[in-house]
Formats: sequence, structure tokens, C-alpha cells
Amino acid sequence: MRYVIIGNSYAGLSCAEAIRRFDKTGEVIIMSDEKHRAYARPLISYYLEGKATDETICYKDEDYYEKNNFTLMIGKKAVSINTVAKKVIVEGSDDLDYDKLFIGPGGTPFIPPIDGFNPDSPMMGTFTKFDDAKKMEKAAKDVKRKEAIVIGGGLIGLKASEGLRALGLHVTIVELLPRVLGLALDEVSGNITAKRLNKNGIDTATGETVTKINLDESGNPTSVVLKSGKELSADIVVVGVGVRPNIGFLEGSGIKIDRGIIVDKTMMTSVKDVYAGGDATVIYDVINKRPNIIAIVPLACEEGRVAGTNMAGVYREYPGGMGLNSVEIYGLPIVTIGLTNPANESQKVYIFQDDNIYRKFVYDGEVLVGAILLGDIAGSGILSAIIRQGLKCLEYKDEFLNGNIYSFVIDSEFEIYNINKGYAVKSYPEDLPEFSRTNWR
Ligand SMILES: Cc1cc2nc3c(=O)[nH]c(=O)nc-3n(C[C@H](O)[C@H](O)[C@H](O)COP(=O)(O)OP(=O)(O)OC[C@H]3O[C@@H](n4cnc5c(N)ncnc54)[C@H](O)[C@@H]3O)c2cc1C
Repeated sequence: MRYVIIGNSYAGLSCAEAIRRFDKTGEVIIMSDEKHRAYARPLISYYLEGKATDETICYKDEDYYEKNNFTLMIGKKAVSINTVAKKVIVEGSDDLDYDKLFIGPGGTPFIPPIDGFNPDSPMMGTFTKFDDAKKMEKAAKDVKRKEAIVIGGGLIGLKASEGLRALGLHVTIVELLPRVLGLALDEVSGNITAKRLNKNGIDTATGETVTKINLDESGNPTSVVLKSGKELSADIVVVGVGVRPNIGFLEGSGIKIDRGIIVDKTMMTSVKDVYAGGDATVIYDVINKRPNIIAIVPLACEEGRVAGTNMAGVYREYPGGMGLNSVEIYGLPIVTIGLTNPANESQKVYIFQDDNIYRKFVYDGEVLVGAILLGDIAGSGILSAIIRQGLKCLEYKDEFLNGNIYSFVIDSEFEIYNINKGYAVKSYPEDLPEFSRTNWR
């Protein structure tokens, strides 16, 4: 049996490990168009900050592939897939036959049309790959004004900003939404986060966008012009507005696409023996109760694991996932889980705020559907389990607001217990849909 895996990252390696767990002898080939051993993508900004090195950013040991009997093909790009002949067409190499194929190509940066932006310029780029971080490290050595502009105030933009700031540049984040981390935070938490950034040398221009980049005779930036007409000087311009599924090479393969790769509950695509997972895949969003693309590490790992298990012949279903972010901005810890801004008027919001801490809980009836924890994130693990399971817990809202979250546990019957008080309350949501049995294909 030959398994071919496209993508040497979280989804791909979780898939490979699951295959190896159940199939000790099958041939596993992992390919990637990047030239590095698997590295922690969220840590590319840490590399700029000096908190990660070429070695420590790699989250698998050097002998990992050999030990697991995986064949690694790096610097190899899949350009198309012939699902009838079961072949991956590889740029500059022989076609690769497969019995079972996993597609985990992640995302590709979205670049909005901006007059003057040239990703090939040494002083401009995106920020999703290790090579992007290395390019910015080099660019920072050639600056005249020490000014960087980061377009996009989401997770990628914020991380790029922190990295550039650590290289000694003054950074301005230009964000179209009224706040940074606009989709995950609300106005209050967005403002607290912006203040923390501002205090640390990163300015924020929200409700703004870059309409033009002015260039010198070499084609490098000198300034940017904002929608409001304001001009900001710039040596470096980074576009970090998000990613889109990296699925161009699947055109003509017969694999069903709708924004991302469509899969069933076993993570198999519309084509037999072809599976997918990670940032390029549409999964069931258990909070919004609809198909969605949720591009985060834990879900990429779960999806890859379920796919690999099924590929090796052991049946598993993926129940779906939810949005979850955990970041620290200059010592300010932030966790966002599920639905952080109510989607309709029937959903109720409960907030606690003091000088250092902000907690917000979004309830749909008795069920907690989302939360923001800022400043104090203790208990975020149990909270995410409660939200993911769709448990009724309105009666505990005051304890949650007071930060007494970590004393709760969920047992195997999905009952919530407060271990401090020793009481157990039946909370199993019998009237709620069982996500694991939802047919969402
Ligand atoms: C700067 C940054 C910060 C982030 N921070 C966080 C965070 O704090 N927490 C969190 O949960 N998530 C974070 N993320 C998101 C997280 O990195 C992704 O969700 C995760 O990497 C997805 O894993 P994946 O395996 O689906 O794809 P990827 O990690 O994107 O890997 C896909 C791989 O496939 C390769 N590939 C693509 N197409 C082909 C092809 N045709 N042929 C061969 N190889 C191909 C790609 O080059 C890449 O190496 C961050 C992302 C970025 C960019």
C-alpha cells in the first residue's frame, strides 16, 4: 500500500502518524514544496524575535522521518492530480502513483489589489512561511527610516508586527475593521489589545486601508497612502490579511471544491481514496452549525489524524471543530473561543471587567457558545471543552465571570462538576443535536 501525503505540516504529519499507528509496513511518502523540515508555522515571528532558531522552530526531531519510516520529498510541488490514474503530477519530477492520497496544502496568502505592492521586492512580502520571516530579517537590515507597515490586524498581521518590532522597526498596523483581531475580539478587548501594542511601539490605524505604495527608483517602498489620504513613511510593507485554501492545483481533478476542499465525516473528499484536512478543508463548524473553514493548528491536527486513521482502514468520524485562538501580546494573554460576538438578538452576553482583566461569555439560551478571556486565561481549557460539547451551563455564569472556571470539570457523561464545591449537576444536553452524528456532508 502506498500512501502519498501532500503537505509536510500539521495536517499532513498528523495523518502520516495515524497511518503508521495502524499500518506498520505501508509506504508513506510526504511531499512539500517548502524546503524545510516540518516547522511550527505560528512561531515564524518568534524567529524574528530571537525566541526560536533554525533548529528549535522545527517541531519534529531530525530523525523523525527515518524513525517512522516516512519518505520525505521536500522542495517538490504537486501541480495536479490525476484521480483516475491515481497519480500526483510533480513539477520537474516523475509522476507519483498512490493507493491513498492525503491533501493538506494549507493556505496561501490573500493579497488584495494594492497599487505598488510587489511581493518579489526584497522590502515587501507576505508572512505565512519560514522563508517570509527570513526575508523580513534581511530586509530589516536595509532600512533607512526604520518604518514598517503591516496591512491586516488579524493574527498573522499582529505576529508579523511583533516580529518586525523586535528587529528595531517602528510598525504601523493598517486594519480595515474598527479594531485589531477584529473577527475574534469585540470593541473593548480590541481597544485593550491596541493599547498594549501602542505602548510597545506598534501603532494601529483601524478603519483604514492602504490605497497606494509609493516606490523609489529601485521599486522599494518609501511611503504608503491610506484611504483617509494620510501618508505614512515605509521601508517595509507586509501584507498579512489572511489566507485562502491553497487549492489551485486541484483544478480538473474531479475533487469537489466549495471555497475549500469538501470532505465527508471520515475526511474523504468526493473522490474515493483521496482524503484532505487542515486549512484547505471545509469542515463542520459546531458552533455556527454550518460548513466552514477554520484555519488553526489544533483542528488541522485532528482532521489529519481522523483522515489517516480511515486511510489505514480503521473507521473514525470527525465531529467538527470550532474557532479557538490563544495569543500573548506583550505579556497580555488572550483566548477567544467559539462565537465571541453574538450572531442574533436572542444570544445574551455577560461581561466582567476590571483594570487588568476582561471576561466575556456569549450564551445561546442555557448553552455557552463563545468566550473571550483577556488578562487572565486560567480555565480556558475547560471552557473550550464546555463550549465544544454544547453543554448547558447558564447557572454557572457568575462563577465563570468571577474567574472561577478552573474548578469545573466535565466527566465522561458530559456532566459538569465544580470540584471545589463537590456538587454535581446533571447538564447533559439531551435535547441538543449530537454533533458526532450530524450528517453535514
Ligand atoms: C504567522 C502565523 C501565525 C499563526 N498563529 C497561529 C496560532 O497562534 N495558533 C493557531 O492555532 N494557528 C496559527 N496559525 C495558523 C496555523 O499555522 C495553520 O492553521 C496551520 O499551519 C495549518 O496546518 P496545515 O497542515 O493545514 O497547513 P500548512 O501549515 O499551511 O502546511 C501546508 C504545507 O503544504 C505545502 N504545500 C502546499 N501546496 C503544495 C503543493 N501543491 N505541493 C507540495 N506541497 C504543497 C505548503 O508549502 C506547506 O508546507 C498561524 C499562521 C501563521 C501564518
